[in-house]
Amino acid sequence: MSDLRIFLEELDSRGELLHIGEELSPRFEIAAVMRHLDGRPLLFERVEGHRHRVSAGLCAGRGLIGSALGVEDADLYGRLLEAVRNPRRCEVGDGPVKEVVGRLRLSDIPILTHFEGDPGPYVTSAVLYAKTPEGEVENVSIHRLLVLDDHRLTLRIVPRHLYRIVETAKERGVESIDVSISLGLHPAVLLAASTPAPYGVSEFDVANALMGGALKLTECEHVDALAPADAELVLEGRLRVDEEAVEGPFVDLTGTYDVERRQPVVEVVGAMYREDYIYQALLPSGMEHRLLMGLPREAEIWEYVRAITPHVRGVNLTPGGCGWLHCVVSIRKVREGDPKNVLMAVFAAHPSLKHAVVVDEDIDPHNLEEVEWAIATRFRGDEDLLIVPHVRVSSLDPASDQRLELGCKVGVDATRPLSKPERDFRRAEIPLSKRVRRLLGRLGCI
Ligand code: MN
Repeated sequence: MSDLRIFLEELDSRGELLHIGEELSPRFEIAAVMRHLDGRPLLFERVEGHRHRVSAGLCAGRGLIGSALGVEDADLYGRLLEAVRNPRRCEVGDGPVKEVVGRLRLSDIPILTHFEGDPGPYVTSAVLYAKTPEGEVENVSIHRLLVLDDHRLTLRIVPRHLYRIVETAKERGVESIDVSISLGLHPAVLLAASTPAPYGVSEFDVANALMGGALKLTECEHVDALAPADAELVLEGRLRVDEEAVEGPFVDLTGTYDVERRQPVVEVVGAMYREDYIYQALLPSGMEHRLLMGLPREAEIWEYVRAITPHVRGVNLTPGGCGWLHCVVSIRKVREGDPKNVLMAVFAAHPSLKHAVVVDEDIDPHNLEEVEWAIATRFRGDEDLLIVPHVRVSSLDPASDQRLELGCKVGVDATRPLSKPERDFRRAEIPLSKRVRRLLGRLGCI
């Protein structure tokens, strides 16, 4: 079994989990600490007005996600793509989430209010399972859920798979869809639920493939839906296709407020949970949000780019670019025209992308100072710039037309021209003697 607690124990054994013992309020206080300690896994031991603990930031670093999956950075994309192509059916049975079966008021759960302009508490790390009325298509995805009252939430449904299930339900004259909303999960489940698998594939099965068959599901008690048997907490709900409420404003990936929309309502009709469940929080626009959104897209970009040029050192949807709008790709350039083809492939792989930079293999795409150095020394605006006006971009970008999702993409070829000698562009090195190496090693520089 691989659940949230096992991962917390692993982090603890490596001394990576920061326990916060001070009592803090779920309204702003916990979110403020999460923001200032962004990138670190946290466990809030005492929450004002609640007896349950709150975890945060468990996927807030590439190393954390890699360690949860038991893979090295270099193998992460391959593993993820393989799991999407070969999902593994989950076993169904009982599990620790059924320790308590009953009802919960939403105000009893330490759901966080994050930012000063938020309309209320938002559930941000929940994994929602739904299926079509006849059950032929299942889907698992992450949605933000705004608490409306003790038993109702509204959620943002972007036009992807859940949206299609809702549309199918409407066509068939069905009033509501049974859903499970699961919280407190192993990082592999969160990553799989964030990954764009084809319509019809249950992302739980993708997670199970990532976890080597360790994900078990359980039948909900109050609705017709499945949920991870070792979740901390599952809300059982009915997604009303005939009832909407105002959703937003919500702080999305960009760290700015997304627009308000009318969205469907979920009625919570039951709950299953561990007696001492841990509520899993996720800071909107924080590292965890950006990585969960960005990593699966990096895997797709990596695959597209490999079709053009065989040597790809790395792909980085940069944190400063919100893990979504800016991409750096490092390649071994063989022909002069390769980088612009790579730029087109990158934009095709991830339609929300706004700016992309291609660098040579000697530049680490995760070291943004090196990337800037490459732009400073290897890029010429008149030859190496690719501008694509009036093209689909992200609805999250406030500088673009967010309603029509129209904007401009810019690609930067910061690779050295093959027509000039390589030595003109090489970074000069200083030889290191044995004792200098020892000294620098002791100082932790190398
Ligand atoms: Mn899906």
